[in-house]
Amino acid sequence: MKIIDVEYAIIGAGTAGLGAYSKISRKTDSLVMIQDGPYGTTCARVGCMPSKLLITAADHAHDIETSEFFGIESTGTVNGSKVLERMRRERDHRFVARNLQYVEKIPAHHKIEGRARFIAPGHLVVGEEIEVKAKKIILACGSRPEVNDVFQPVMSRVLTSDTIFEITDLPRSVAVIGLGVIALELGQALHRLGVETTLYGRSGRIGGLTHPDMQQETLEVLSKELEIYPSGTVERTWEDEGAWIQYRQSNDETVTKVFDRVLVATGRVSNVDRLNLEAAGVESDQHGNLSFDPDTLRYPGHPIFIAGDATDVLPVWHEAFDEGRIAADNAMNYPNTVDAKRRTPLMIYFTDPQMAIVGKTYQELQNQEIIVGELPFSSPRHIVWNKVDGRIQVYLEAQTGKILGAELLGYQAEHLAHILALAITHQMTAEQVLEMPIYHPSAEELLRDVLENAQRKR
Ligand SMILES: Cc1cc2nc3c(=O)[nH]c(=O)nc-3n(C[C@H](O)[C@H](O)[C@H](O)COP(=O)(O)OP(=O)(O)OC[C@H]3O[C@@H](n4cnc5c(N)ncnc54)[C@H](O)[C@@H]3O)c2cc1C
Repeated sequence: MKIIDVEYAIIGAGTAGLGAYSKISRKTDSLVMIQDGPYGTTCARVGCMPSKLLITAADHAHDIETSEFFGIESTGTVNGSKVLERMRRERDHRFVARNLQYVEKIPAHHKIEGRARFIAPGHLVVGEEIEVKAKKIILACGSRPEVNDVFQPVMSRVLTSDTIFEITDLPRSVAVIGLGVIALELGQALHRLGVETTLYGRSGRIGGLTHPDMQQETLEVLSKELEIYPSGTVERTWEDEGAWIQYRQSNDETVTKVFDRVLVATGRVSNVDRLNLEAAGVESDQHGNLSFDPDTLRYPGHPIFIAGDATDVLPVWHEAFDEGRIAADNAMNYPNTVDAKRRTPLMIYFTDPQMAIVGKTYQELQNQEIIVGELPFSSPRHIVWNKVDGRIQVYLEAQTGKILGAELLGYQAEHLAHILALAITHQMTAEQVLEMPIYHPSAEELLRDVLENAQRKR
């Protein structure tokens, strides 16, 4: 057994782990980064980037299919293998390659390959042959897709976000299990690329918007294009020249259909459960959870820090990027730790129409006196685009008019969401935002109108 004794160990070479590495390696040579599986990060290999590349191809196909509205007669054929080839080419050459180049430059004695787990406080084992003793340890081990046992009989046809980007041709049909961000983004993309797609939810909730009207609007708008069963349970699956799915809806009606493939996107589980954290001396709380302090990202009483999707909180790229650096700073200043300065929460679903949540959600504001500004997601610009589906809500503090949060469902909502994020970050009131110039006809007129709508209600 080879024993390595260092000041810092980072578990995981994803966005959070590499961020932590870049900070700590500037200060000391006494560190290792341990990586299980391929380098390249979840985001670049099987997350943000391939999904957005696929969605963009799908949107091109959709534009051709709907071009008649503009008086343009066009026909197009989706060549599935070419679409997937181009997605992989762009992903590998432009995004994964950049990560691999960075990892390549990391000195060999800083890198260990294999799966790490604790065997004692400050003591890890990697595979069968390496032991690492580290004074401070950062858990940046990410998360993995969860697949329920009910899909076991059709496992050879099951895809997850870890495998879907490797298929060489598009299936004829797919069942998408889940109605969260990954299910909706990929489900709509596959549908637009000509795959017969059916989406199955569980609780009736769809996407991440929390106001009941926004939930309703999301279901109505997406159901115009997609076949969606929002609430029920997959009771049984079996293989017979396809994957059969028996699904009982909450109204007790059963739907049974057969598919070429099943995309399971029902959620992700943190890889912390594989680290044997108990051996590090981390005690669980009364609910059996091994809890960390979300402000310092530290496990109280231990020189152990957590960052990125491993935390299960805000599992998005920019948060993983920030958290890797926060965990590194606090590990380097240990035992003195400082509370992290967090950004305004921002979450975007790259569906069409897009969904976005900025600042506080409606649900989080339940106990506060707020004014809700609300409008359909339509402005002269949206009419020109023929993209008028959706709705926007902004939440103002009743007393001051300060913008606290917003929920958006609409075409390219990402841009208005970023303007709102800037306003919330700088604690601006609706009145202050309304002082800025807004060009006609631009999508930003909708932002002006919804803020005026809220102001009128004060
Ligand atoms: C399909 C999909 C689409 C997404 N789209 C977006 C998007 O559009 N925008 C956005 O902001 N976010 C998006 N995300 C989320 C984003 O990709 C993640 O938030 C981010 O990649 C998390 O980075 P991380 O460093 O925490 O984890 P990762 O990049 O997963 O890194 C963790 C690494 O640790 C390794 N590891 C695990 N256990 C061990 C162990 N015991 N020992 C050693 N190594 C270990 C893993 O193999 C992995 O390589 C998407 C995710 C998915 C899956």
